[in-house]
Amino acid sequence: MPKITGYKTHDVRFPTSLSGDGTDAMNTECDYSSAYVTLLTDTDLVGHGMTFTIGRGNEIVCTTIESVAQRLVGKDTEELFSDMGKTWDFMMSDPQLRWIGPEKGVIHIASGAVNNAVWDMYAKSRKKPLWKLVVDFTPEELVRSAAFRYITDAITKEEALEMLKAKEATKKEREEKVRKLGYPAYVTSAGWLGYTDEKVARLTKEAVAAGFNHFKMKVGADQANDLRRGKIIRSIIDDPQYLPPGIAPRDPNGDDLKGKNAGPTGSVLMIDANQVWDVKQAIDYVKGLEEIKPWFIEEPTAPDDILGHAAIRKALKPHGIGVATGEHAHNRMVFKQLLQAEAIDVCQIDSCRLAGVSEVISVLLMAAKFGVTVCPHAGGVGLCEYVIHLSLIDYIAISGSMERNVLEFVDHLHEHFLNPCSINAQGRYNVPSNPEEGYSIEMYEKSIAEYEFPNGSYWVGARGGKKL
Ligand SMILES: [Mg+2]
Repeated sequence: MPKITGYKTHDVRFPTSLSGDGTDAMNTECDYSSAYVTLLTDTDLVGHGMTFTIGRGNEIVCTTIESVAQRLVGKDTEELFSDMGKTWDFMMSDPQLRWIGPEKGVIHIASGAVNNAVWDMYAKSRKKPLWKLVVDFTPEELVRSAAFRYITDAITKEEALEMLKAKEATKKEREEKVRKLGYPAYVTSAGWLGYTDEKVARLTKEAVAAGFNHFKMKVGADQANDLRRGKIIRSIIDDPQYLPPGIAPRDPNGDDLKGKNAGPTGSVLMIDANQVWDVKQAIDYVKGLEEIKPWFIEEPTAPDDILGHAAIRKALKPHGIGVATGEHAHNRMVFKQLLQAEAIDVCQIDSCRLAGVSEVISVLLMAAKFGVTVCPHAGGVGLCEYVIHLSLIDYIAISGSMERNVLEFVDHLHEHFLNPCSINAQGRYNVPSNPEEGYSIEMYEKSIAEYEFPNGSYWVGARGGKKL
């Protein structure tokens, strides 16, 4: 039985700030970065994991990953895999490390990287992509894999088991369907704040031609600007002439689009403020964007402000605009309260801000119980590779529905991964199917050698050859 013998971390940073990719009202100079970890065993079996940051501070996460991973050294892998919920509890319960959280901030995202690496190793050991490993679990195994501490007032293990059993008989049908159709996606990369109007228009046309019908635009720096850019996007996505050949407009009043403010071609616009406003400001600003008919405003205010989100949702409801959040919700308790306070229309889990697959499963279970659609956060680097697995788990084994869901897609940096995500001609994610790919997060060694900070070849070159 393989034992964990050690770990390696890499601080990998891509100079995306040079192109304006990833810019929004809050994050104006992002160097998309990966705090990357490989767990090693005394056999060939390894596990890869990472968490995402936007540059400076990535080294702090790498150091913290080492503290978390150290706890697993010497552990028998089969023992870890046999009860992933217990493994998660063990990882989170170091009494000294817990003090620098608990379950939030650097320690939590570092724990996410390591927990994801354990899941990756588990999937690889069974020769299945991660999503397939998890959907093949019995309901009992799936419940055992989740993190239930502190959320049993919202969902008990018994309730979760009952929900999963009700979906069990039809899992196979859903798996076949999604393998054939792909998983619905939306595109964010047309509407970064740092792009010119011309670039936004061009990228929007390209996205429509690529089959997408949900689009997201960044807002929050200047209302008049946002309205102008929003009208440019709407004028393209609502115009049937830009649809790909042979694609008919979707019915904007169909069950899958109801309540999403879809235009005449069945296209949907979402807006994202990345936390820039106070509560009252958010309400006033978004009311002023009613004309461009967004489905929801994402991250209107501070990610910890549960009651603030609830107030914004209540105030925007008469205007037909919903609220989405979650990419900075730092643990399952924040999601629990967002759901309990009826603060969100859409639940945006993040694959590595939550502490790995085990905590994500808990949130998927709660969202399904509360009937809230899950549309995971992605983009950055590696996040799209991760989240397709999570949406497949949600659809096949947990919520049983993908018709109203859309999974974020951003077309940056996929070339650095051995098993990059991909999109089909209908603008949907393909289902990862390589039995060796685990959680699809392994990066090419040459990418690490080039972009490792501060002494990878790219960064040394950028400093005119000077090593640090
Ligand atoms: Mg966002």
